[in-house]
Amino acid sequence: MQPLGNSFNEAYLKAKFKNRNTPVKSALLDQRIVAGLGNIYVCEVLHRTGISPKRKAGALSGPRVASLLPAIRDVLSEAIEAGGSSLRDHRQTDGELGYFQHNFAVYDREGQPCATPDCTGKIQRIVQSGRSSFYCSKCQR
Ligand SMILES: [Zn+2]
Repeated sequence: MQPLGNSFNEAYLKAKFKNRNTPVKSALLDQRIVAGLGNIYVCEVLHRTGISPKRKAGALSGPRVASLLPAIRDVLSEAIEAGGSSLRDHRQTDGELGYFQHNFAVYDREGQPCATPDCTGKIQRIVQSGRSSFYCSKCQR
């Protein structure tokens, strides 16, 4: 499913997450659910929505699943703007979008203070399905 199309909506995502016992991080990296959302983007989306990458996809409340949609669109739109090219042009050979080069809030920031206003947490790195997840355990639950 292309994340910038109209069919990528709340009902779709809720249906895909329903009863899914995998971490939300893995669900968002699943190309059958969302196409082209790479590891860095998923880390940023989860930080923006305050969702822990370890949270089970099927255990997320409706409003929390819904909050992912605008975050995904925003992160991808910023990526496209930063890349100065279309989504298609920006796609790499492995199908993932090229990574935008401006400031990431969590990616590759292990040990640094969390960027969320009033949060006193530090960014942690864990490995999930062989990929690094960066997140703040204080404001991402
Ligand atoms: Zn935080």
